[in-house]
Amino acid sequence: MIKVKAFGGYSKIGKSMTAVDVDGDIVICDMGADIEKLVDFEDDKNYISIRDTEALIENGVIPDDRKFFEEDGKRVKAIVLTHGHLDHVWAVPFLAAKYHCPIIGTPFTIKVLEHLARNVKVGGLRFISLNTGTKYKISQKTTLEFVNITHSIPNSAMTVLHTEYGAVIYANDWKLDDNPTLGKKPDYERLEAIAKEGIHTLILDSTNVDQEGYTFSESVVRTMLEDVIKKTLDNKTIFITTFSSHIARIKNIIEISRKLNRQVLIFGRSMAMYTKAAIETKFIEKAKFPEVAMKREQINNILKYVRDRPGKYVIICTGHQGEKGAFLDKLATGQYEYRLGNEDAVIFSSRVIPTPLNIANRSMLQNALEELNVNVADNVHVSGHASKNEHKLILKMLKPKHYIPSHGGMDKISVGIEMGKEMGYELNKTSHILLDGQEITFE
Ligand SMILES: [Zn+2]
Repeated sequence: MIKVKAFGGYSKIGKSMTAVDVDGDIVICDMGADIEKLVDFEDDKNYISIRDTEALIENGVIPDDRKFFEEDGKRVKAIVLTHGHLDHVWAVPFLAAKYHCPIIGTPFTIKVLEHLARNVKVGGLRFISLNTGTKYKISQKTTLEFVNITHSIPNSAMTVLHTEYGAVIYANDWKLDDNPTLGKKPDYERLEAIAKEGIHTLILDSTNVDQEGYTFSESVVRTMLEDVIKKTLDNKTIFITTFSSHIARIKNIIEISRKLNRQVLIFGRSMAMYTKAAIETKFIEKAKFPEVAMKREQINNILKYVRDRPGKYVIICTGHQGEKGAFLDKLATGQYEYRLGNEDAVIFSSRVIPTPLNIANRSMLQNALEELNVNVADNVHVSGHASKNEHKLILKMLKPKHYIPSHGGMDKISVGIEMGKEMGYELNKTSHILLDGQEITFE
């Protein structure tokens, strides 16, 4: 018997957590946060600690596993993480310890988790670093294998649980980038071999399944960035904002800027955490990365220096969603001793994640930048999520018996179900709609 129970990450994006029960042995896949609710929660607090766990659950920031833990907690054999995005791992320091089981992720993901656990002063978690392409026996009934996949953060994996019924694959999140600029391309060979052995269930991130065609490679953004930086007039200081966890993107910005004779600076607390994890796991070289500045005074001092040398710097910073309190918001609202103006350019190497809060924040930031006469370039970006044709390719390649679209909400899930129909999947027989709080049992 295989049972798949959805805690979060199905009815809407965020708070990813799924339990896979194989004849009584349970593996939990991901334990993430609802990022919007986390930002709200952080707004009211200076510091979040383990004592806030109940409040975090009550406020919908992290998954509610209380009833499940009481009834089935002892049967949980492992907690497995696919990648280091906060909507997939942030809840681990708060929820994982009570299960007394190993917490397994690829090396970069585990480094991020160690930093997160240290931030909230949680110790004693049993982390296991497992490379892609290797296996780990979780119990008599389940063996774990991580298969290398591309996304928008280093060391992303598809979680493969080998069982006597065939493999259960938890694929949140993914895209098929055959020309990644950091790390390897997807391990098609291994995926094909697993498909040959037989796949029972595929749980598939559907964030962009409603986008026709293919998601472009990160190497395309590299070219776009080079173009935009080159075309920015050489008397302007450039601020580029992107996702802190997107190490490949940050590395590309550094390399391009230096090639074009600009020095690079990095500002922001979350930039510091992710670049540290990437250096520690050797995805990037410390010597080739600038120190990340976080403290206000330090940033002010650096900015004074930058102001006197227009056209010489590229500054990589946080704040691409217009988030209050991030560097770019503070800069645009005059909270640093640097007045933005016509001699500055801001490049958004990102896309607005369309939540009401982000849309509002971003349009306020946009207005502020326009009023200051700043040169703005937007959407110099490609997504880390697969488009419709990649979904078709992966279904064709893996041929799972059962297909469960996840990570996107009902509107994306229903596009996934429609796409599945084209590929021969039949609703409630071989394709299934699973929403948060629901479970599906395969006898
Ligand atoms: Zn992700």
